[in-house]
Amino acid sequence: MSSHPPSSDPSIHRVPADARALAVELSRQATARPELRDIAAPYLALLSAQAPVEDTFSPPSLPEAEVRARLGRGIPALAPEDFRAAPQALRRLWEDVCAVAARHFPDLASPLEAIRQWPNGREDGLLPAAMYYLRGEADLLAENAGLDSSLFQFVLNNVLHPFLRRYASALAPLVDPETWYRPYCPVCGGEPDFAALAKPHGARRLLCSRCDFEWPYRRTSCPFCGNDNPETYPYVPSEDGIYRLYLCDRCRRYLKVIDLRELLEERLLPVERILTLPMDLAARQEGYGIRET
Ligand SMILES: [Zn+2]
Ligand SMILES: [Zn+2]
Repeated sequence: MSSHPPSSDPSIHRVPADARALAVELSRQATARPELRDIAAPYLALLSAQAPVEDTFSPPSLPEAEVRARLGRGIPALAPEDFRAAPQALRRLWEDVCAVAARHFPDLASPLEAIRQWPNGREDGLLPAAMYYLRGEADLLAENAGLDSSLFQFVLNNVLHPFLRRYASALAPLVDPETWYRPYCPVCGGEPDFAALAKPHGARRLLCSRCDFEWPYRRTSCPFCGNDNPETYPYVPSEDGIYRLYLCDRCRRYLKVIDLRELLEERLLPVERILTLPMDLAARQEGYGIRET
């Protein structure tokens, strides 16, 4: 494993924090700020369902030469068809995630029940669904099955997250984020759903929505469409100046960003992603981030 080049950001978590570490930090912040308790509760329950998976799952190793060759061509390390996980473990977590979500979001109980039952009688289990998800085509599956697409993807994201965090930890030593510099995750190909501006100069790193890997990317352009015109890619700062909501008027997507230069302590980005859910709501109310289907 090569050492970091001097220009790299030492605060980058090359290996994603696991579910237990995330739960400790989320719980610490929710205790310190009671207004965050309701936001944190469902995610604490999801993290505790995910933790046993991370304790036991070790991803099968991939041929190093092939992974390096892929990365060199701008292709993520993990190809969708290479994803492996024990079908029973996937199935168990599927049930758990649906149960936690139904308990915390009772309004969604009925569409969640349809999603919970979806794997019933499928001989091939959930592995093909994982591959659709990794190809960015989970919405097709949901539509074919008549399921609520965003809820289906929420369940898949939470079921696959612990497995993909372990893949990210295993593959991290092969990835040189400094030479990657693309808008999608070098480990799994996922889109970012959060970002941080790092000390001291505000270099931006993106957080993968699927596997929690972090990698640097241009600070001033939209990672979804490449728009780098500040007039059509403005941001709205939070009152305390810690967060920014970047809104792209070209592709109508948004990105939540934490400015770590405003803070003394380091923060775990996957926890910040949860604590800033009200920003997602605000962006969607303004018509950003709604996928065209
Ligand atoms: Zn990823
Ligand atoms: Zn854009």
